[in-house]
Amino acid sequence: MEQFIIELKTKLAGEQVIQDEMLCYAYSTDASMYRMVPKVVVVVHTEREVIEVIKLASLHGAKLTFRAAGTSLSGQAVTDQVLVLLSNASWLNYTIHADGSQISLEPGIIGAQANNYLLPYKRKIGPDPGSISAAKIGGIVANNSSGMCCGTSQNSYATLAHLRAVFANGDVLDSRDPRQVAKFIQDNQELINNIRHIRHQIINDHELSAFIRKKFAIKNTSGYSLNAFLDYEEPIQIIQRLLIGSEGTLAFVSQVTLNTVADEQFKALNLVYGTLQNLCDLTLNIAQFNISAIELLDANSLRSVAHIRELQPYLIEVDAASGAIMIELAAASADELKLKLAQVEAVIERSSILQQTGFTQDPKLAATLWQARKGVLPTIAGQRPIGSSVLIEDVAVEIKLLPALIADLRAMFERYGYANAAIFGHVLAGNIHFVLTPNFTIAAELQAYDQFMHEFTTLVAEKYHGSLKAEHGSGRNIAPFALLEWGQQSWDIMWRIKELFDPQNILNPEVKLTRDNTLHMQYLKELPALDQQIDKCMECGFCESVCPSRKLSLTPRQRNAVARRISQLSGAQRAQWLKKFHYYGIETCATTGMCQVACPVDIDTGAYILSLKPQKSYRLKHELEITQARRKLKLANLAAGIIGRKNLQGITQVLHARIKSIPVYLQSMPKVQTAKLISTRSNTPGNVLLIPSCPNRIFASEHGYGSYPLQALLERMGYAVSYPANVESLCCGQMYHSAANQLQQLRVQRELSHAIEGAQLVLMDNSSCAGFAKQFDLPIMDVNQFLVERLVRSKLVHRYQRLALHIDCSTAKHCFNPEFMAILRLCAYEIVIPEGIKCCGFAGDKGFTTPELNASSLSGLAAQVSECEIGVTFNRSCQIGLNQHSGIKYISFIELILDCLKV
Ligand SMILES: Cc1cc2nc3c(=O)[nH]c(=O)nc-3n(C[C@H](O)[C@H](O)[C@H](O)COP(=O)(O)OP(=O)(O)OC[C@H]3O[C@@H](n4cnc5c(N)ncnc54)[C@H](O)[C@@H]3O)c2cc1C
Ligand code: SF4
Ligand code: SF4
Repeated sequence: MEQFIIELKTKLAGEQVIQDEMLCYAYSTDASMYRMVPKVVVVVHTEREVIEVIKLASLHGAKLTFRAAGTSLSGQAVTDQVLVLLSNASWLNYTIHADGSQISLEPGIIGAQANNYLLPYKRKIGPDPGSISAAKIGGIVANNSSGMCCGTSQNSYATLAHLRAVFANGDVLDSRDPRQVAKFIQDNQELINNIRHIRHQIINDHELSAFIRKKFAIKNTSGYSLNAFLDYEEPIQIIQRLLIGSEGTLAFVSQVTLNTVADEQFKALNLVYGTLQNLCDLTLNIAQFNISAIELLDANSLRSVAHIRELQPYLIEVDAASGAIMIELAAASADELKLKLAQVEAVIERSSILQQTGFTQDPKLAATLWQARKGVLPTIAGQRPIGSSVLIEDVAVEIKLLPALIADLRAMFERYGYANAAIFGHVLAGNIHFVLTPNFTIAAELQAYDQFMHEFTTLVAEKYHGSLKAEHGSGRNIAPFALLEWGQQSWDIMWRIKELFDPQNILNPEVKLTRDNTLHMQYLKELPALDQQIDKCMECGFCESVCPSRKLSLTPRQRNAVARRISQLSGAQRAQWLKKFHYYGIETCATTGMCQVACPVDIDTGAYILSLKPQKSYRLKHELEITQARRKLKLANLAAGIIGRKNLQGITQVLHARIKSIPVYLQSMPKVQTAKLISTRSNTPGNVLLIPSCPNRIFASEHGYGSYPLQALLERMGYAVSYPANVESLCCGQMYHSAANQLQQLRVQRELSHAIEGAQLVLMDNSSCAGFAKQFDLPIMDVNQFLVERLVRSKLVHRYQRLALHIDCSTAKHCFNPEFMAILRLCAYEIVIPEGIKCCGFAGDKGFTTPELNASSLSGLAAQVSECEIGVTFNRSCQIGLNQHSGIKYISFIELILDCLKV
């Protein structure tokens, strides 16, 4: 390993080879119940680098595990050897072919983003895992992931057109390119011959062929794709399909071309209750009508979501033998949907059911109903005992066997003390999930879990001839049971495949295939209790892609994992980790909580990090702080006027590099606010009480409507504007926020409450401040939301051709909805929302004090907005950073409205 790392460092840049103990720990987790700390993390940007890494590994016998988004549930993306990480900034190229019928994707693209690219073509990729907004193409393909709709006919295996991969010997196969294919065949004769040989062995053995066909008639990701030998004749076709679902154990996938599927826009949804037997019969009877999805919820699942208020009118209590299915129909036209509805409704009419909501085409109601299915996992994970893990099992059997399997599972759950386990899943594919929450630090629970795994796998494999992993991949969790499921002959063939592709066993060893019967019990993850703000974190990784520090330091998942680990350390090691965590965990966290938006269990890691920071005291008069800030800004601008903005930025950057407490002057620094906000109060109807936020009291607007344009806009809308008497000293309290200091919070809240007493309508003019003030339960409204609700839309005209939109953390969390987009579309013909940028990382004053966070988060912005005439945001601080890093001018939503109001 040592020599491998030494030579690696000669091939890659220093920052691409991570050996630091704390950082390696940060990469020890995927979404499974396993934790393995890599010896080294290698960040790869290009295929060339992957080839280098693979060749070196082959030379030195190093073991490589690839990672895309790390949302795997079976432990296939963790290792205690070499973790090869797809860089967040690379592997993002894609090409749409012809009319959108095919798309070539690099492995770093998030699945949902691939679908965004295909939106204009009304197409989407076939695979649809529930994790699609976090999971990346590399992982989706290597796990052969699937979800509610795709079944076995639209997964990566079925929709694969071409693939480009790097093999363990460093050779590249690109099946799109005939010359490359010819070279690969020439250079890999032994592999090709053996693939032909295995194919003959399988097709000449009718019993084996029938067995394989049966295994793949339902979803199966627990072994290699042996069906490729039956479905294809050409070795290259077989090879590229063997890589699908191979979990990085056979080759590295550097590009994939998928046939896309229709993204049908006309949809209808029904929630139908009945006995499990009747619901499965109904599923079988309507399957012929090309149903988009049928999702099952057992009695415990329904009970788990009973707290969701909007759902309650549609929920009923059912017994253990009953449940519900959600039937979604989708069609390309209204007429087609009508026909499908008539066919399916006729079958339901003849079926024995308990109750149904009836099909709805109302997207709002459908979204409410979908919460029944989508809320199960978050609820169970969120309510689990502190310290326990979340474990999602995933099996498939023939649909007709589901009721009996569920009854058997229920009986097992009772015996093992998992009585509350909920069963749900994709009944159309015979695929069900259940969630267990064992605590692996308790010996009895550990032992029970082991026994449970043996009994459960035997039940599914032997009694029901099912798949032990339908869509999540076998990883380390099911690998020990592959022999049980597949039998000796198929298992031997799989080993032969592994040895052919990877004779030195350097690619993700033990994953998928193992001879170690106890593998599933090793490296089980502890999730120690630390702080209630993050204790429910199940390390799923859904929050990573929205975090602005993901390319710079740590992600929310990593912050939580490292913080938990630090709580278990002591002495010098703890001190060392704490020191590093101060920068990686605390200083470079924007603390604006975008992670909460993506978190299934509603964790705001930013709030937790904020609570670790020493808080400013509110004793100092707030008014004075604002005055001082204005004074400093005025001085800095004065200096910039003399020596030049660029020069001042350069000088402060150098100073900041030496003394972190010196903030950086940004070239995009606005002028100082000079508007006099006259404190008047009137409670008459039509009067708006405006609370200008601190950023707007410090920084002036420079878009030609005076330095505080909001008043002008509100007056044009017919409102009289007044300000509270103590306007200069008011603050939402965000900058003094501290979970530990409730007193300060109360004081801010009291002052605000007093200032707005009796007012008919109170507006706050900055999204993050308004968002923060929401927690006080005071009748204060975000001005942006107010504008969306009250603006007379006919008064707007298209002023811009192409507009870049930045939706800041607060607006995304508290109020952004399709109505915002409707208004924006009245102002510009085209709205560009840059991809990969959620929180900008400016975060109040962090843009000046930790400017690398803002720079890192916005590193891909300029290229994406270069053709936009203007940018728009809802937050004053974000605007400064966006102006600094975009190459275009960003204005506020208020200024945009002023621009676009008819004169
Ligand atoms: C809450 C939750 C819900 C989920 N729901 C679903 C679901 O509905 N359906 C489903 O199928 N899965 C689901 N998953 C599991 C997981 O999200 C998917 O399997 C996902 O596709 C994994 O993608 P990833 O980018 O996270 O891959 P990773 O976890 O990073 O990697 C997955 C595997 O692919 C390998 N790999 C990654 N990149 C490459 C590459 N370029 N070349 C070769 N090998 C590579 C890795 O070594 C690993 O073995 C869920 C997970 C969670 C946490
Ligand atoms: S914070 Fe939430 S989204 Fe992030 S890893 Fe934890 S549970 Fe998952
Ligand atoms: S608050 Fe922002 S920067 Fe901090 S962990 Fe959450 S998303 Fe990342």
